[in-house]
Amino acid sequence: MNEFELHSIPGETGWIEVIAGCMFSGKTEELIRRLRRAQIAKQNVKIFKPKIDARFSNNSIVSHSEQSLPSILIDDINEVIESAKDAKVIGIDEAQFFSSDIVNICNTLANNGKRVIVAGLDQDYKGIPFEPMPQLLAIAEYITKTLAICVVCGNPADKTQRKTSSSERVIVGASDIYEARCRKCHYIPNES
Ligand code: ZN
Repeated sequence: MNEFELHSIPGETGWIEVIAGCMFSGKTEELIRRLRRAQIAKQNVKIFKPKIDARFSNNSIVSHSEQSLPSILIDDINEVIESAKDAKVIGIDEAQFFSSDIVNICNTLANNGKRVIVAGLDQDYKGIPFEPMPQLLAIAEYITKTLAICVVCGNPADKTQRKTSSSERVIVGASDIYEARCRKCHYIPNES
Protein backbone atom coordinates (compact mmCIF):
# COMPACT_ATOMS: atom_id res chain seq x y z
CA MET A 1 0.00 0.00 0.00
CA ASN A 2 1.49 3.33 -0.98
CA GLU A 3 1.23 6.56 0.94
CA PHE A 4 -1.72 7.77 -1.08
CA GLU A 5 -3.75 4.63 -0.53
CA LEU A 6 -3.38 5.08 3.22
CA HIS A 7 -5.50 8.22 2.91
CA SER A 8 -8.45 6.36 1.43
CA ILE A 9 -11.51 5.47 3.45
CA PRO A 10 -12.15 1.70 3.40
CA GLY A 11 -15.59 0.75 2.23
CA GLU A 12 -16.37 4.03 0.52
CA THR A 13 -16.80 3.91 -3.20
CA GLY A 14 -15.53 6.57 -5.53
CA TRP A 15 -16.54 7.15 -9.11
CA ILE A 16 -15.82 9.24 -12.21
CA GLU A 17 -18.20 11.72 -13.82
CA VAL A 18 -17.34 13.24 -17.22
CA ILE A 19 -18.93 16.41 -18.59
CA ALA A 20 -18.10 16.59 -22.32
CA GLY A 21 -19.11 18.99 -25.05
CA CYS A 22 -18.10 21.78 -27.41
CA MET A 23 -17.22 25.33 -26.42
CA PHE A 24 -20.09 27.46 -25.07
CA SER A 25 -22.07 24.36 -24.11
CA GLY A 26 -21.90 25.08 -20.37
CA LYS A 27 -19.35 22.42 -19.33
CA THR A 28 -17.59 24.58 -16.76
CA GLU A 29 -20.92 25.94 -15.52
CA GLU A 30 -22.13 22.39 -14.90
CA LEU A 31 -18.83 21.49 -13.22
CA ILE A 32 -19.14 24.54 -10.95
CA ARG A 33 -22.77 23.65 -10.12
CA ARG A 34 -21.81 20.13 -8.99
CA LEU A 35 -18.78 21.30 -7.01
CA ARG A 36 -20.78 24.05 -5.27
CA ARG A 37 -23.36 21.49 -4.14
CA ALA A 38 -20.56 19.33 -2.72
CA GLN A 39 -19.16 22.36 -0.88
CA ILE A 40 -22.59 23.15 0.54
CA ALA A 41 -22.67 19.55 1.80
CA LYS A 42 -19.37 20.38 3.57
CA GLN A 43 -17.35 17.93 1.52
CA ASN A 44 -13.69 18.73 0.97
CA VAL A 45 -13.45 19.89 -2.65
CA LYS A 46 -10.28 20.51 -4.68
CA ILE A 47 -10.34 21.90 -8.22
CA PHE A 48 -7.60 21.73 -10.82
CA LYS A 49 -7.01 23.19 -14.25
CA PRO A 50 -4.08 23.14 -16.67
CA LYS A 51 -1.69 26.10 -16.80
CA ILE A 52 -2.43 26.53 -20.49
CA ASP A 53 -5.90 27.83 -19.70
CA ALA A 54 -5.18 31.08 -17.90
CA ARG A 55 -7.47 33.08 -20.18
CA PHE A 56 -9.95 34.34 -17.59
CA SER A 57 -8.29 33.89 -14.24
CA ASN A 58 -5.12 32.30 -12.95
CA ASN A 59 -6.53 30.70 -9.86
CA SER A 60 -10.18 30.03 -10.60
CA ILE A 61 -12.24 28.04 -13.00
CA VAL A 62 -14.56 30.51 -14.70
CA SER A 63 -17.49 29.75 -16.97
CA HIS A 64 -18.43 31.91 -19.94
CA SER A 65 -21.34 33.13 -17.81
CA GLU A 66 -18.73 34.33 -15.30
CA GLN A 67 -19.41 31.91 -12.47
CA SER A 68 -16.19 30.97 -10.75
CA LEU A 69 -14.59 28.78 -8.09
CA PRO A 70 -11.00 28.89 -6.79
CA SER A 71 -8.77 26.32 -8.48
CA ILE A 72 -5.18 25.10 -8.49
CA LEU A 73 -3.16 25.56 -11.69
CA ILE A 74 -1.02 22.55 -12.56
CA ASP A 75 1.41 21.62 -15.34
CA ASP A 76 1.27 17.90 -14.80
CA ILE A 77 -1.87 15.90 -13.97
CA ASN A 78 0.22 13.66 -11.71
CA GLU A 79 0.37 16.57 -9.22
CA VAL A 80 -3.29 15.89 -8.37
CA ILE A 81 -2.53 12.72 -6.40
CA GLU A 82 -0.50 14.51 -3.74
CA SER A 83 -2.43 17.77 -3.85
CA ALA A 84 -5.87 16.18 -3.52
CA LYS A 85 -5.13 13.48 -0.96
CA ASP A 86 -7.40 15.07 1.65
CA ALA A 87 -10.19 15.89 -0.80
CA LYS A 88 -13.41 13.93 -1.07
CA VAL A 89 -14.48 15.54 -4.33
CA ILE A 90 -12.06 16.48 -7.12
CA GLY A 91 -12.93 18.71 -10.06
CA ILE A 92 -10.76 18.88 -13.17
CA ASP A 93 -11.54 21.45 -15.89
CA GLU A 94 -10.24 21.57 -19.48
CA ALA A 95 -9.20 17.92 -19.28
CA GLN A 96 -8.34 17.81 -23.00
CA PHE A 97 -5.18 19.81 -22.24
CA PHE A 98 -3.76 17.13 -19.92
CA SER A 99 -1.66 14.11 -20.93
CA SER A 100 -3.09 10.60 -21.18
CA ASP A 101 -1.82 10.04 -17.63
CA ILE A 102 -5.14 11.57 -16.57
CA VAL A 103 -6.86 8.23 -17.24
CA ASN A 104 -4.80 6.38 -14.64
CA ILE A 105 -4.95 9.31 -12.25
CA CYS A 106 -8.76 9.46 -12.35
CA ASN A 107 -9.00 5.68 -11.88
CA THR A 108 -6.61 5.83 -8.92
CA LEU A 109 -8.57 8.65 -7.29
CA ALA A 110 -11.91 6.88 -7.79
CA ASN A 111 -10.46 3.58 -6.59
CA ASN A 112 -9.45 5.40 -3.43
CA GLY A 113 -13.00 6.47 -2.66
CA LYS A 114 -13.04 9.89 -4.29
CA ARG A 115 -15.69 11.45 -6.49
CA VAL A 116 -13.90 12.73 -9.60
CA ILE A 117 -15.69 15.19 -11.87
CA VAL A 118 -13.92 15.95 -15.15
CA ALA A 119 -14.98 18.51 -17.76
CA GLY A 120 -13.48 18.92 -21.21
CA LEU A 121 -13.82 19.43 -24.95
CA ASP A 122 -14.65 16.11 -26.56
CA GLN A 123 -13.76 17.20 -30.11
CA ASP A 124 -11.17 19.56 -31.55
CA TYR A 125 -12.04 22.34 -34.02
CA LYS A 126 -12.06 19.79 -36.85
CA GLY A 127 -14.54 17.56 -35.05
CA ILE A 128 -11.87 14.94 -34.26
CA PRO A 129 -12.09 13.27 -30.83
CA PHE A 130 -9.79 15.20 -28.48
CA GLU A 131 -7.61 12.84 -26.43
CA PRO A 132 -7.70 12.01 -23.60
CA MET A 133 -11.46 12.72 -23.49
CA PRO A 134 -12.50 9.54 -25.37
CA GLN A 135 -10.54 7.42 -22.89
CA LEU A 136 -12.08 9.31 -19.94
CA LEU A 137 -15.56 8.79 -21.35
CA ALA A 138 -14.84 5.06 -21.54
CA ILE A 139 -13.87 4.70 -17.87
CA ALA A 140 -16.50 7.05 -16.39
CA GLU A 141 -19.52 5.80 -14.47
CA TYR A 142 -21.53 8.91 -15.38
CA ILE A 143 -21.40 10.88 -18.62
CA THR A 144 -23.05 14.18 -19.42
CA LYS A 145 -22.87 15.59 -22.94
CA THR A 146 -23.59 19.30 -22.93
CA LEU A 147 -24.89 20.88 -26.13
CA ALA A 148 -24.69 24.48 -27.22
CA ILE A 149 -26.93 26.29 -29.71
CA CYS A 150 -25.68 26.62 -33.28
CA VAL A 151 -25.00 30.31 -33.95
CA VAL A 152 -26.00 29.87 -37.61
CA CYS A 153 -29.25 27.90 -37.50
CA GLY A 154 -30.25 27.45 -33.86
CA ASN A 155 -30.02 23.64 -33.87
CA PRO A 156 -28.42 21.83 -30.93
CA ALA A 157 -24.65 22.17 -31.47
CA ASP A 158 -21.79 19.90 -30.42
CA LYS A 159 -19.01 21.23 -32.67
CA THR A 160 -16.56 24.05 -32.07
CA GLN A 161 -16.12 26.26 -35.12
CA ARG A 162 -12.77 28.05 -35.35
CA LYS A 163 -13.01 31.44 -37.00
CA THR A 164 -9.29 31.77 -37.77
CA SER A 165 -7.22 29.90 -40.34
CA SER A 166 -4.54 28.62 -37.96
CA SER A 167 -3.98 24.87 -38.05
CA GLU A 168 -2.60 24.55 -34.51
CA ARG A 169 -4.75 22.17 -32.51
CA VAL A 170 -4.75 24.39 -29.45
CA ILE A 171 -5.37 28.12 -29.57
CA VAL A 172 -6.70 29.46 -26.31
CA GLY A 173 -9.53 31.89 -26.87
CA ALA A 174 -13.21 32.49 -26.48
CA SER A 175 -15.91 34.00 -28.66
CA ASP A 176 -13.30 36.04 -30.57
CA ILE A 177 -11.94 32.83 -32.11
CA TYR A 178 -14.62 30.18 -31.62
CA GLU A 179 -18.34 29.64 -31.92
CA ALA A 180 -20.68 26.69 -31.48
CA ARG A 181 -22.06 25.04 -34.62
CA CYS A 182 -24.22 22.04 -35.39
CA ARG A 183 -23.11 19.15 -37.62
CA LYS A 184 -24.74 20.78 -40.67
CA CYS A 185 -23.15 24.23 -40.24
CA HIS A 186 -19.70 23.22 -38.99
CA TYR A 187 -16.79 23.21 -41.43
CA ILE A 188 -13.01 22.83 -41.24
CA PRO A 189 -11.44 26.20 -42.06
CA ASN A 190 -8.92 26.47 -44.93
CA GLU A 191 -5.55 26.18 -43.30
CA SER A 192 -2.83 28.68 -43.98
ZN1 ZN B 1 -26.44 24.85 -37.56
